[in-house]
Amino acid sequence: MKGRDSMKRTSHISELREIIAMERGRGRKIAFIPTMGYLHRGHLALVEQAKQTGAFVVLSIFVNPLQFGPHEDYASYPRDLDRDASLVKDAGVDALFHPSVEEMYPQQMVTYVEVGQLDTVLCGAKRPGHFRGVTTVVSKLFHIVQPDFAFFGQKDYQQYLIIQRMVNDLNLPIEVCPVSIVREEDGLAISSRNVFLTSEQRQEAKVLSQSLIDAETCLRSGERSTRTLEKQIRETISGNCHGIIDYVEVRDAEDLSEVTMIERPVLIALAVKFGSTRLIDNKVVEVYSHDQNDDEI
Ligand code: AMP
Repeated sequence: MKGRDSMKRTSHISELREIIAMERGRGRKIAFIPTMGYLHRGHLALVEQAKQTGAFVVLSIFVNPLQFGPHEDYASYPRDLDRDASLVKDAGVDALFHPSVEEMYPQQMVTYVEVGQLDTVLCGAKRPGHFRGVTTVVSKLFHIVQPDFAFFGQKDYQQYLIIQRMVNDLNLPIEVCPVSIVREEDGLAISSRNVFLTSEQRQEAKVLSQSLIDAETCLRSGERSTRTLEKQIRETISGNCHGIIDYVEVRDAEDLSEVTMIERPVLIALAVKFGSTRLIDNKVVEVYSHDQNDDEI
């Protein structure tokens, strides 16, 4: 019987491939969860869902330099491998992969994977090159792990859509599984970066999720103008915290195209900077053109 003590742990691609080949040989499917570590309840929700597939669960921890801009927080991104290893072992992960930068990028990269259109808006517009770094490293990890299932949190909704599109466009035989956002009690979306917030910023940051809830309420009670909703969210945030708004946008939830009047499911997404800490949050609201008032449905 496999116990918790049996978690495999490696920083080498070749060793991980051997571990996975062995499990495949035993007829097991592979579920994969890519992360940048400093794990929290959000990541553990992905583990929980991955385990429900019955597959052999592989979790990677890699702070990927390729997806950070030159003035972003790559160097200061929080890291604690020992703590993470003990958390994932307790959560029932079967194999932990924590490669070094040299292992993942032994030479200067000249090959990239880029998903057009979807990566030019929202966080993609504010963080040039970010999603190219994400899709490139996730492609590499997909080739290393060759999973049947891959789990992505909706906290990074745009990332999830981009990965799903990459998998479709490149015919990768992987089922991309989205996982709902895990929040703190006061609504703040859990993030590894929350650790950088001062207590005052932490207190104020709850306004982000509150502004999304208010916008949803407004939408459900009949408001259909994205401009009005975006304005309302901006005012709620500006009026209740010292954070600097990076963007607040309502877009089509499937393809992130611009929306003027809401008639289909939309993504309400925002990014706000508290000092040097940039937080993101979002909500998908399903409304359809025939809805007059969702309360009547
Ligand atoms: P990260 O380590 O921040 O790159 O996140 C790794 C994965 O965990 C990504 O798919 C994230 O979307 C997901 N994730 C991070 N925070 C949360 C959260 N609060 N709720 C759900 N998923 C999350």
